Amino acid sequence: MNNHSVLVVEDDAPVQNLITTTLKAHEYRSMTAATGETAVMMASSYSPDIILMDLGLPDADGVDVIKKIRTWSDVPIIVISARSDDRDKITALDAGADDYLTKPFSVEELLARLRATARRLSAAAGSRSDSVFTNGKLTIDYAAGVAMIDGNEIKLTPIEYKLLCLLAQNVGKVLTHTYITQKIWDAAWESNVASLRVFMATLRKKIESAPDSPQYIQTHIGIGYRMLRVE
Ligand code: CA
Repeated sequence: MNNHSVLVVEDDAPVQNLITTTLKAHEYRSMTAATGETAVMMASSYSPDIILMDLGLPDADGVDVIKKIRTWSDVPIIVISARSDDRDKITALDAGADDYLTKPFSVEELLARLRATARRLSAAAGSRSDSVFTNGKLTIDYAAGVAMIDGNEIKLTPIEYKLLCLLAQNVGKVLTHTYITQKIWDAAWESNVASLRVFMATLRKKIESAPDSPQYIQTHIGIGYRMLRVE
């Protein structure tokens, strides 16, 4: 049982039907918009908890709709796109989307993304101003500047620590290479993306019990990284 409201922005009627039927069966409240203009209007009038956003809309590019909504709202936005091109996903994520699903997607996939987003919403509601972050065995004490696994301090370089904090502060959200390198180095050069891979590998060795099948930091090949919420 959940009471989350979901705004479904999709102009393709069969896809819209599939999504709203699925939502209804799982006790989400849903509302729909088939154009960018309606989407912006509904996002502002009804303040949905989650938005599912198709990128190819008849009157607008979904990316521009995301940018508009982001001027006043940090509602989680999951992009649904038929485009398999990574470039579009990256553009949408950089515009402020949280996650993406590529069409065709399964109902299970859609529900998994919604559950993850709903978990993040309830976690955020309780801990927005906390100075201590916990996720599974990982703890970050921001005030002390210390990261721990199972209560044992892990020795991190300043960049590894900054990287870990950035991922933790955006737990559940896919961060693009450009976003991360701009935050860490104040610039997004190709060489920084290569450095990022190196720092990510050493960071994983320190926090993951099995760095080859990481539990905390997920790789999105060609796109970026995400810290997963660990039970
Ligand atoms: Ca479409």
